[in-house]
Amino acid sequence: MVDRRWSLLGFLVACSLLISTVAPAVADHGSLHGLNPADMDLSVDPREDFYRFANGGWLDRTDIPADMGSYGVFAELNDQMQIDLLALLRGLEESDTLEEGSDQWKAVQLFAQGMDMDQRNEERLSPILPFIDDIDAITSLEELHAYQQGAIFESVGGVLSIYVSPDLNDASIYAPYLSGPFLALPNRDYYLGDDPSFEEIRPLYVETNAELLGYLGYSPEEATAAAQASYDFEVFLAEPTLTREEQQNFSLANNPMSLAELAEQYPMMNWDQFVDTLGMEDVDTLIVTETRYLDALAGILDATPIEVIKDYLKLEVLWTFGARLDQDIYTTIFDFSGRVLSGVEESRPLEERVLALLNQVYPDAVGQLYVAEHFPPEAKEQIETLVDELVIAFGDRLEQIDWMSEETKETAREKLANLGVQVGYPDVWQTYEEAELEDSYVLSALSAQNSEVRESYAEAGGPVDKTEWTVPAQTVNAFYSPQRNAIVFPAGILQAPFFDYQADPASNYGAIGFVIGHEITHGFDLQGSQLDPDGNLNEWWTEGDRERFQALNDLVVAQYDAIEVLPDVFINGQLTVTENVADLGGIQVAYDALSNYLEGEGESIDAVLIGPAEPVAGATPIPAATPDPGAVLETLATPLAEASPVATVQEFTQQQRFFIAAATVWRNKTREQSLMTQILSGVHSPGPVRGTQPSRNHNAFFEAFEIEEGDEEFLPPAERVVIW
Ligand SMILES: [Zn+2]
Repeated sequence: MVDRRWSLLGFLVACSLLISTVAPAVADHGSLHGLNPADMDLSVDPREDFYRFANGGWLDRTDIPADMGSYGVFAELNDQMQIDLLALLRGLEESDTLEEGSDQWKAVQLFAQGMDMDQRNEERLSPILPFIDDIDAITSLEELHAYQQGAIFESVGGVLSIYVSPDLNDASIYAPYLSGPFLALPNRDYYLGDDPSFEEIRPLYVETNAELLGYLGYSPEEATAAAQASYDFEVFLAEPTLTREEQQNFSLANNPMSLAELAEQYPMMNWDQFVDTLGMEDVDTLIVTETRYLDALAGILDATPIEVIKDYLKLEVLWTFGARLDQDIYTTIFDFSGRVLSGVEESRPLEERVLALLNQVYPDAVGQLYVAEHFPPEAKEQIETLVDELVIAFGDRLEQIDWMSEETKETAREKLANLGVQVGYPDVWQTYEEAELEDSYVLSALSAQNSEVRESYAEAGGPVDKTEWTVPAQTVNAFYSPQRNAIVFPAGILQAPFFDYQADPASNYGAIGFVIGHEITHGFDLQGSQLDPDGNLNEWWTEGDRERFQALNDLVVAQYDAIEVLPDVFINGQLTVTENVADLGGIQVAYDALSNYLEGEGESIDAVLIGPAEPVAGATPIPAATPDPGAVLETLATPLAEASPVATVQEFTQQQRFFIAAATVWRNKTREQSLMTQILSGVHSPGPVRGTQPSRNHNAFFEAFEIEEGDEEFLPPAERVVIW
């Protein structure tokens, strides 16, 4: 449930576009390019229910698969990515053409090990028992601290973990960060928050922990007592860690301390030995992200029986590896992570779970396969142009905004000029020479993971390679990386309906353009703006600009706080403000970029694509309604063809198509429990809100659909917020 690759990056992880989702099932986009009328409900008045108008067809025909908490475009694309990759992996497995020992050979072998459930069931927990023995051997706090030094290579972060990331004070070099404890629940609030749903979840979590300890031979009574004590210990550990609000202030995490200072502050750890064990011989300073926690830790450990600490460590091993072991322990983990936290009824098919691990531990070996088949050079070329246009449009808007002073704008221009752009896949693929094939699935995966962990530690103190990718190319998501000051659009998201190089421009600007604009604004939001054009923590805003920006953000907080997503459940405007502001900015920037594009082509934003009048010159024509036979089969299940709705859709203006596309990519169905988890812990608003609320803050939306006072979708001009 905890993805080591990401937890290592701590909370400085790049800002992603959506909460990560897991996926399965099937989707077929057919042969249509751009908007698909079968996804819409043309009988609905867009002025009354725009989301339904844009997505009604899709909403009517889509059920949330039993193995998912929610379903939408991200999940559909993820499904497609998995189908594509599984076909490629199976082909390689059967063809036997891979060179033994090559990265792809290792990935294919790992896939086979993961799929061999009989073998896994036979081994049960035996591959990881040596890790449990290491914990059992601890008899004192001194031995605990010796154990901690190398625990990361057994995937245990324990009470003190170290990861490597660009230095907050000099983003051109990698720095080691000392962070907080392992917590199995999604965040600190689950331990300390007073929302009733947390109170329901906590006893179920403790029960699950008891069940997990049972696999290690604990009697039911021992397991229940140990699980409760371990939970209480976690609460003590969670308490002094940064709150979610505090985490948004990067300077609170920026506390460089020399090893000598650390030795004075926290003498229980032999710091020189710790960094040596991790392979960071030249390191003499760590950036402490959790000072309050470090201050409290010795006291917490002193007050806790060593057996309780050991049970906590064992549970971390079980949470980390459980899903890679036998069916029984997987089921225990799924019953909590899937059923309780997401309301999911069934687990994902085995092959998808194994593929997910491959994507995690051999991301580039698998990514190369995907890109070669599913991301043509034409697509890369076109999306690069599109990103350039969005950057220009953002720059133009920056010049025009009246709340930012010229002084701040000067540095903002520099930051925009420095913005790194990563599109599709890395220029240089990562290799996995150190990864070994072991005799069990779980240990083969760990070997690959450890090779990456060792590599990242070895980089501490060295230069940051700004072209390096930190996410797999097959990821269905987009990112802004604050310290690299870079926007990242992996090939996985550069697929229809987000992006289709054969679709009409308005559809692409409304869908992926919105996303690109969203990511660009992150460089200048409440968090991104704490870092300067070089990615260093530096205040470059005047006090007045900060105040005006904060006041504008507060308007967005209030606007979203008022949105009810379930009876009496409202969006947490504060928790989601940064992402909402990015959505509001994203649609403004994308709309400008489309206007610029059309102007360059001599086209009008009011022009229809192919309508009763003249076809628009230069626009990429939408293929006539002669989809391939497969697509017809797919779409006939829906009330598509009757009144030739393709022609109707083509009668929409560019402006209308833009806003429809912007609503389409956020279509989503979510189970109630999953929605509650998102509201409680997610930084993004739910899909249906993201698909319409940004448009409702854009004047052109009201113009495009002639929405007026009295219409449901109307938002009075005085309430519309435009920041970027
Ligand atoms: Zn975002």
